[in-house]
Amino acid sequence: MFWAIFVLGHDCGHGSFSESPLLNSFVGHILHSSILVPYNGWRISHRTHHQNHGNVEHDESWVPMPEKIYSKLDSSTRILRFSLPLPMLAYPAYLWYRSPGKDGSHFNPYSSLFSPGERKAVVISTACWTFMFGLLVYLSFVFGPITMFKLYGVPYLIFVMWLDFVTYLHHHGDDEHKLPWYRGKEWNYLRGGLTTVDRDYGIFNNIHHDIGTHVIHHLFPQIPHYHLVEATKAAKPVLGKYYREPNKSGPIPVHLIKNLVKSIGEDHFVSDTGEIVYYETDPQLKKFLATKFEKYF
Ligand SMILES: [Zn+2]
Repeated sequence: MFWAIFVLGHDCGHGSFSESPLLNSFVGHILHSSILVPYNGWRISHRTHHQNHGNVEHDESWVPMPEKIYSKLDSSTRILRFSLPLPMLAYPAYLWYRSPGKDGSHFNPYSSLFSPGERKAVVISTACWTFMFGLLVYLSFVFGPITMFKLYGVPYLIFVMWLDFVTYLHHHGDDEHKLPWYRGKEWNYLRGGLTTVDRDYGIFNNIHHDIGTHVIHHLFPQIPHYHLVEATKAAKPVLGKYYREPNKSGPIPVHLIKNLVKSIGEDHFVSDTGEIVYYETDPQLKKFLATKFEKYF
């Protein structure tokens, strides 16, 4: 349910929940604050993500590290960043600290993520977030921390892992879908939008509002979630070979866990130069991760 709430708040952020900006903002604040997402802070950085998707220099979500930043990370940071399940718990850290090589918090109105005109909106969302956090602390005193951990903490952790799992897979390719990243004049909105892949989540497709249809969402973010399947069907003949058909899933999307483990084991950084680049592998890290996870596969 946390994920379903997130997707509805995401629609509000794109203005596709209602034609009224005020209603989008009102409902978005209630939905996202309830799951500890600062509505305006994340809405604005998510808009930056959409406007720059697939651009190594300006994208905002799951952006590949250039080799010069990757090579400066010490080995324990590398291992932490690429060892499951830690990358799947990245979302709260991203909200507070952004990504390596980039400064800015989603809670701070003076953060480099926002323009001066957006500061007031960020203050409102941070205040709503603080109210929700305070309410959770208060309820922990009333019902006890263990009860609150079971009622809110566990669902929150599952939500964060699912969010990172889904968004990671939308922006990382696999053997059949190698995804380019662009710089400079090779980037444009359409090319960038096509660097995302659709995924089949089996029985979870309906539960999480068909968010696996991610290509159409990036090409037309104003389409609400309940039209994404229909819009994807209509766009496929137009996109032709540029549409990457997702691998079909059984009821449980086990193949996606294999995709995730392989991608984390191999997609580490991109070249510092070149206007069309692909993920490259740090062979030492790959070897380390392979020995660590081979017992599971
Ligand atoms: Zn979006």
